[in-house]
Amino acid sequence: MRKTKIICTLGPATEKTETLRQLIEKGADVFRLNMSHAKPGWVREIVPRIRRLADEVGRPVAILLDTQGPAIRTGDLKTDLHLQPGNILELTVRGAESEEKYSVDVNYEGLVDDVAVGDTLLVDNGMIRLVVLEKGAKRIRCKVMTLGTLGSRRHINLPGVHVNLPPLTEKDIADVTLGAELGVDLVGLSFVRKKSDLEELRRLLAGEKSKALIVGKIEDQSAVESIEDIIRASDAVMIARGDLGIECPMEELPIIQRRIVKMCLRLGKPVVVATHMLESMTTNPLPTRAEITDVANAVFEQADAIMLSDETTIGRYPVECVEILDRVALRIERSGGAGYAKSAILEDARQKTVASAVVLANSLGRAKIIVFTRHGTMARNVSNLRPEHAPIFAFTPSEEVRRQLSILWGVWPVRLEFTEDPNATIEAAEKFLRENRLSAPGDQLVIISDVRGGESLVDCVQLRTAK
Ligand code: PEP
Repeated sequence: MRKTKIICTLGPATEKTETLRQLIEKGADVFRLNMSHAKPGWVREIVPRIRRLADEVGRPVAILLDTQGPAIRTGDLKTDLHLQPGNILELTVRGAESEEKYSVDVNYEGLVDDVAVGDTLLVDNGMIRLVVLEKGAKRIRCKVMTLGTLGSRRHINLPGVHVNLPPLTEKDIADVTLGAELGVDLVGLSFVRKKSDLEELRRLLAGEKSKALIVGKIEDQSAVESIEDIIRASDAVMIARGDLGIECPMEELPIIQRRIVKMCLRLGKPVVVATHMLESMTTNPLPTRAEITDVANAVFEQADAIMLSDETTIGRYPVECVEILDRVALRIERSGGAGYAKSAILEDARQKTVASAVVLANSLGRAKIIVFTRHGTMARNVSNLRPEHAPIFAFTPSEEVRRQLSILWGVWPVRLEFTEDPNATIEAAEKFLRENRLSAPGDQLVIISDVRGGESLVDCVQLRTAK
C-alpha cells in the first residue's frame, strides 16, 4: 500500500475516458483541473465523468479545482516574437499602440504602476528575462536579456515586486462558483500572499454552500514570508515549485520546500510537492535519474502528495508517469522517512488520544490503524503523525469526506454508515477489512473510535486482534 498520494493535472493528454480510467487504476488519487487553461464547459463535462469512472473502478478520487489567481499574462500575438538579447520589447496595457518592432499587450493595467525602472520581469517560466528601461502612461519599455520565443498568453513573473491585483479575480470567482456547483472536493488558491486571501476564498465557498477544502499555493516571496499564517489558514498547502523557482532564487527552493514540509507536519496540515517531478517524461518514456531522486526526496520528506502537471496535461506518457511515481514512492517508503512528524504540535485532547494510538501501533508488528471519522478530522490527525508501518483505514459515512481523505498520507478511505451502537460500527469495519483481504487473522487492530460513556460519546483507543 502506497502512502504518498499522487495528483494528476488533467488536460488534452488525459481527458479521454479510457486514459482517465487507466490513471485511476494505476493509482491517481486526485485529479487537478488547472483553471489557467481549463474552460468552464470542459470542467462541467469532465467532473461528472470522473465521478462515474471512480465509482466504476471502485477507488475514491478527489477533484481539485485550481484557480488562476492574480497572474499576469501577455495577450494574443498574431505571430510568435523571436527575441534576441539587446532587442527592445514594449509591454503595453489597454491595447495602447506601440511603435517598437516587438511589442505585446498585457492583461493587467496596474503593471505600469507596480514595476520600477531597473526591475527584472521573467516571462514564460523564466525563459525570457527583461529589464525595465523606461515607463510611460500605458507602456513599459524593456530590454531583452536572453534569447527566446514569445508566444501568446505567457505568464509574467515579477520577483520580489508586490502586485496590486486582488487575491481572487473576477475569473477566479466565476471558476470557484462553478466548482462549488459541481461539488469539487478541493480548491487551490494560486499566488496566496497573506492569510486574508484565504479567508476571502473561505467566505466565497461558504456563500456557495461548498465544503471544499482550501489548498493554499505557495508561489512567491510574500507567501514564503507569511508562511506560518498561510499554513494555519489553509486546509492544505501546495509547494508550487514552478512559480516559486522563478519568484525566489532557485538555490533557495530545496530549503524552502523542506521548511514548508516540516512546518506543515508540525502544524498538522497536508502538504503537496508540485511541478517538474518527471518533467522529461512530457516527451520521453523514461525519467532522468535526477527526477527520480527529486521524487524520492519528497517521499522521504513524507509529503502527503506529489503532483504531475505537464507530464499529464500535454505529455506523451501520462499513465507511465503514474506508474513511475507509484514504484518510486513504494520503494522509498520502505526505506524509511525523515520523521518530521515527531515535532507535531498536539493541541487538543483528540490529537493526544490519536498520538497514543500511533505510539501503540508503532510498537506492534502487523498493526493496522482503524479510525472512524465524520468530518475527516480524526483521520487527518492520525495521518499527520505518520505512523511508522501501519496503514490507516479511515471509515466515514460521508462520500465527500471519503474523497477529501484521498489526499492524506497513508490513509485508505472507506465509506461506511455509522450505527447508533459504536461497537456494531467497529464490527462492520472489521468485516469490511476481512472480506476485502485488507486484514488477516492475527493482525493487531488499533481502533480509534467513540464509545458510549453514560449519556455521551467519548473518544477511545482499543487494541483488538483481527479474526
Ligand atoms: C506551480 O507554479 O508550480 C504551479 C503548480 O502553479 P500553476 O501550474 O497553477 O501555475
